[in-house]
Amino acid sequence: MGQKYKLICTACGAVYDSFAEWFANDQKCNCGCQRAEAEYNADYSKLFDCKEHCDSLFRYFDFLPLNNSENIVSCGEGAEPIEEWAFFEKYAKDKHNIDCKVYVVRNDHNNGSGTFKDIAAALGASLFKENGGKRFCLASTGNAATAFSRYCALAGITFDVFMPCDVCPETADTIRSHGQNIHISEGGYGAAKQEAADFHKNEKVLISAGNIDPIRVEAKRTMVFEFLRQLGKMPDVFFQAVAGGTGPIALDKGVRELQKYYDASLRMPKLILVQQDSCDPMVQAWERASSEDFPNGWEKDFLSVVPHPRISILTAGTPGMYPVVAPMVKKSNGSFVRVKENELPSIGKWINDNTGTIFGPASMVCFAGFIKALEEGKINNGETILLNIGEAVDRAKWFEKEVEDCHE
Ligand SMILES: [Zn+2]
Ligand SMILES: [Zn+2]
Repeated sequence: MGQKYKLICTACGAVYDSFAEWFANDQKCNCGCQRAEAEYNADYSKLFDCKEHCDSLFRYFDFLPLNNSENIVSCGEGAEPIEEWAFFEKYAKDKHNIDCKVYVVRNDHNNGSGTFKDIAAALGASLFKENGGKRFCLASTGNAATAFSRYCALAGITFDVFMPCDVCPETADTIRSHGQNIHISEGGYGAAKQEAADFHKNEKVLISAGNIDPIRVEAKRTMVFEFLRQLGKMPDVFFQAVAGGTGPIALDKGVRELQKYYDASLRMPKLILVQQDSCDPMVQAWERASSEDFPNGWEKDFLSVVPHPRISILTAGTPGMYPVVAPMVKKSNGSFVRVKENELPSIGKWINDNTGTIFGPASMVCFAGFIKALEEGKINNGETILLNIGEAVDRAKWFEKEVEDCHE
């Protein structure tokens, strides 16, 4: 039978036998690369035969880098029902004469903290438990902090989170309620990140390696399995609000893996990635590249912006992952789309009227992106659209209030 999985460095191909080895190597390859992909010794014809933990991503236990199911830390996340939104389909038809199917992945229903981050935090906490990690740290503006504080607490792992000075009080309270250590920086996210890196180095504590962290990627790639299980096929178009870009990176990994081991005919969906106008460095870089017809090295041509949004989880002013994510977008015939932050409350009101739910602001960026893409003619007749949304509104009371106060 042999070992269940191995980690392979994406830069040099070096093989690591387990996360224990990866952690002992300071979470990077000897070549310096922090990006590794897992390869599984698994029978992909049994991908959808769920034996246990069917209410979470651990239904794919045989396809996750965890050896012993006793180490699973789960609140029920990553296997939420994908919803079809008829009122979005009707809107596309009535307003733009486009016939399409629209599905929404309700990450706000994840039971850990009601965000897309729960999936990664569940696998992360399970892996720390299995591989003897006692402590973990990261810098975060909100969602990752909330998710990891809960899952680490469940796994008995001490979690230190470094947050910018303008962290929202609801988030800080939630983290403290899980008994974890919160360090609020005197500076912004950049300063918090540096403090986390120093802490990792000085205290020898495991740290989140960011958007390419193999824990995040391996966990989130299970969304591809869910599309096939629930929709019976890959969507034609994939929408997500993007700050860093783990979503598209994980999607790409999942699709390549299934092409190799499950069904060679699977195709990467057209990626439409959305940013709001208060923090849109990827959209700006993309617009410049497309206006110049993608000259050599275009994917390395991006500038930082000084973000001034209130959507604290979408504030990556320096789009470090753009050189990784943008070529994926181009290859998929997709695009980056900009939406107006000040239009989100009225769209939120419309969605609330139709669903009874007020969504978090990052989710709203994704929804608004769909509306914008329709306007820009980026959706074709007959396409199946999937919206991978971020979070519930729980920790963004200010946004909830703006939606409630909104009169169309
Ligand atoms: Zn390497
Ligand atoms: Zn290190």
